[in-house]
Amino acid sequence: NVSVVLFTSDLRLHDHPPLRAASAGGRAVVPLFVRDRAVDAAGFAAPNRLAFLADCLRDLDTGLRERGGRLVVRSGDVVEEVCRVAGEAGADEVHLAADVSRYAQRREERLRHALEAAGVRLRVHDAVTSAVAPGAVAPAGSDHFAVFTPYFRRWTRERQRDVLGAPRVVRVPDGVGSERLPVNEGVSQGLAAGGEREGRARLAAWLRRGISAYEDRHDDLAGDATSRLSPHLHFGTLSPVELVRRARRTGGAGAEAFVRQLAWRDFHRQVLAARPHAADADYRPRHDRWRTERTAHGDIEAWREGRTGYPVVDAAMRQLRHEGWMHNRGRLLTASFLTKTLYVDWRIGARHFLDLLVDGDVANNQLNWQWVAGTGTDTRPNRVLNPLTQARRFDPDGAYVRRWVPELAGIEGPAVHQPWKLRGADRGAVGYPEPVIELSEGLARFREARGLG
Ligand code: FAD
Repeated sequence: NVSVVLFTSDLRLHDHPPLRAASAGGRAVVPLFVRDRAVDAAGFAAPNRLAFLADCLRDLDTGLRERGGRLVVRSGDVVEEVCRVAGEAGADEVHLAADVSRYAQRREERLRHALEAAGVRLRVHDAVTSAVAPGAVAPAGSDHFAVFTPYFRRWTRERQRDVLGAPRVVRVPDGVGSERLPVNEGVSQGLAAGGEREGRARLAAWLRRGISAYEDRHDDLAGDATSRLSPHLHFGTLSPVELVRRARRTGGAGAEAFVRQLAWRDFHRQVLAARPHAADADYRPRHDRWRTERTAHGDIEAWREGRTGYPVVDAAMRQLRHEGWMHNRGRLLTASFLTKTLYVDWRIGARHFLDLLVDGDVANNQLNWQWVAGTGTDTRPNRVLNPLTQARRFDPDGAYVRRWVPELAGIEGPAVHQPWKLRGADRGAVGYPEPVIELSEGLARFREARGLG
């Protein structure tokens, strides 16, 4: 009577339905993580995420050891390794959290097939990596919602399962070998630490101190008043079901606004689950003839390096490089700048984000990029965010720009958003680049490309 629990994007002990089911009735459990070489081959194993992952695995192992168990780590092909471990342990079932990407869907399919052949049962659990499972709510006549507002109405009414405590004891059978835990290397300087303990501490602090002001302050670039829980949600060190429950319990407008953002996460997940091709192709084809690496190399490099000459864009791009994380308002305005002002293929921007973001997530990143590019689910696909208007609204005093663009740190107040207006000598002294493009020029090109006259 042995079960294997394959941990993937659910690296926690609290509120973990697969672990709970696997250890029911005192069964022995092999908690397994496989460093899948297919993830590396797909270029998805970015250093910032690997470092955060290493923290998560160490913490998971520590938590399991405190309960009498340990984490088994393997690397190779995930399906082969699961079958091998199930064989070594004499397991008759494998538990897995459902997930949404094409990669995850194939993994599940291949596992089911291979395990069946070996006489082992695969049990897949919903509402582990999403608060509301994809497909649990769908409009009449379709397999998913393409518009957020009606989705959100249904999502809010959906009954959620109970939140589970962490198991007190995990009994791991002898004789299953493990590799050493990975270590962190080569990452962004300001990268946050990973692990369930860290996530739970952050969550507790957020519910106590941050959430009540969320509605008013979440868009303030310099205020940094969002939860920063995204990497914990990505790696599953926090449970989205538990998060929704605890946020609702705190009550108030801040909590409501925060829960709405968690619903956005589920929304994109249910789109990707139903349309996995949207990870790299237009969800709604607009037949754009985007500029690419070949035709816009200089502009793309300037954007990646935070040297576009638009301070708020550059500040956000530099925050990304330094922290492996960017404020949501920054993500919106930098993505709009690349796809609409510079008219560059959204996939190029999405790739750069995935290379650096510690929360880099196929569903959230690709579908948010598509939302901004107007090839996704935005009901106003041709809107263009003006970086100066954005700067005035969301960084009114210029503090965010001064924090991230040291060349401009000496310019006081909102003047920092338009360094090109400085007088000759001052302008040369700051050593900051000229704008790569006039906004009106970018807008005209985009409108023409989209046939907007
Ligand atoms: P909070 O404001 O505290 O929100 C709480 C949680 O809600 C977040 O952790 C996240 O899980 C969810 N959330 C918030 N906003 C969104 C949103 N717009 N869409 C979906 N879920 C949301 N988020 C990722 O987790 N991974 C990504 O790779 C990613 N790429 C993005 C790319 C672009 C171009 C844009 C515009 C947004 C992207 N987002 C992504 C969504 C959002 O920017 C981040 O989730 C958020 O900034 C994370 O910070 P936070 O945890 O402090 O968010």
